Amino acid sequence: MHELAITQGVVEAISHRIGEGRVVAVRLQIGKSSGVVADSVRFCFGPVTEGTILEGARLDIDEPVGQCCCRTCGEVFEPDPRFALCACGSADVEVRSGQELRILSVEVV
Ligand SMILES: [Zn+2]
Repeated sequence: MHELAITQGVVEAISHRIGEGRVVAVRLQIGKSSGVVADSVRFCFGPVTEGTILEGARLDIDEPVGQCCCRTCGEVFEPDPRFALCACGSADVEVRSGQELRILSVEVV
């Protein structure tokens, strides 16, 4: 369950950058093809933020599906989260987006 480590990393990064103050809301972007399960991050967020400046903060997660481009036929399509395969049968696809994992915004009071 690497979502725990990822959530800890996010919380540490925010705590480090904010320093003083109290975080009331965090918005993350976790692409469907990033390999990170947003629900697991939601689950970890409460326990991980306990005792930090993020305790009690609201967590919003954007989950963009992303886009693939087939190098064989040129088709642009939404990738399956587990494997990218074009309708033409080619696996030679370029994943253009959907692998994002970033902190979009942090609300501080
Ligand atoms: Zn194709």
